Amino acid sequence: MLALQKLRPEPGIALHDVAAPAAPGPGDVLIAVEATGICGTDLHIAAWTSGYASMKSAMPVTLGHEFCGRVLQAGPGVPVEAAGQRVTVRPSVLCHDCAACHAGDFDHCTGRKGVGIGRNGAFAAQVLVPWENCVAVPIAMPPEVAALTEPMTVCHEAVETAGIRPGDRVLVIGPGTIGQGIALFAEVAGAAEIVVVGHDDAARLATVRELGFPNTADSFGRSLTEAVAPWTGAGLFDVVIEAAGVPSIVPEALSLLRKRGVLVIAGIHAAPATIDLTALVRDHKQIRGTYRAPVEAWPQVVDYLSKNAARVGEMITARLPISRADEGFRLAAAKRDSKVIILQDEVRS
Ligand SMILES: [Zn+2]
Ligand SMILES: [Zn+2]
Repeated sequence: MLALQKLRPEPGIALHDVAAPAAPGPGDVLIAVEATGICGTDLHIAAWTSGYASMKSAMPVTLGHEFCGRVLQAGPGVPVEAAGQRVTVRPSVLCHDCAACHAGDFDHCTGRKGVGIGRNGAFAAQVLVPWENCVAVPIAMPPEVAALTEPMTVCHEAVETAGIRPGDRVLVIGPGTIGQGIALFAEVAGAAEIVVVGHDDAARLATVRELGFPNTADSFGRSLTEAVAPWTGAGLFDVVIEAAGVPSIVPEALSLLRKRGVLVIAGIHAAPATIDLTALVRDHKQIRGTYRAPVEAWPQVVDYLSKNAARVGEMITARLPISRADEGFRLAAAKRDSKVIILQDEVRS
């Protein structure tokens, strides 16, 4: 089968023929992949920016951690009803061997391996995963929408971390998939006003508006403060959620918060940020980090996606077969597209 792999710890990815996975072992299932999203993490791994050195021991490794598929074959110990189910997969696989796992404290597992990072992933026709990582997806849900579940759980967790309350005014910095999903869940939480700002980001901001969020701004050629000025006349924001990964905007993001406001950092930052802590202290502001969502969030997010499939589908701006995965990576890196999905041939229409 064709698989998109990381072969060596250096820039680049390779599409080539690999053997299909072996029959699933105890607790595992073999998934026939239907749709896989290209994520910012995949772009970082392809470009080989810092932070992924631990992948080296898994190479060559098939990438792809945001996906949906059907259970083709179930290993020993997996319930019989698993066969044929459509699922999406939590990519974080527990080791079941570290002190935390033995103590039942799975959230603190120190031996996690990410599907599509530390073990083979879903830019391929088939992938082996533990059944315990599978989350059921309604059969009527479009596979490409189900493949958005993983990034959308990250968005869900960012909004939970922010503690958005009905009536809040929310600024989202970064109009990519994560910023878009944060806007959607901020709406669910009852935010009264949601402003999304980008930087030289006309295409993705257009997608934000198509999703139903008219309040967008572009900070290209001006400061963030200037870009959002049309909305700060009425007062500063209750919540600012940063999903751009740009450390230099963190001080400005803080200055756009009202007293006792909450800044949530969802972006991955390649360098430290410098902030005025005295201003933070005197204004009782809070900075909170957010990352992977808890297991319980997954069925909730699947439910939201299945009920809002047509609207959420607007986040997907390109669909390509695996044979054109290279092109998909170029599109995703160019910032013109929002989510780029790789579809396996059987489900491509
Ligand atoms: Zn991802
Ligand atoms: Zn563990």
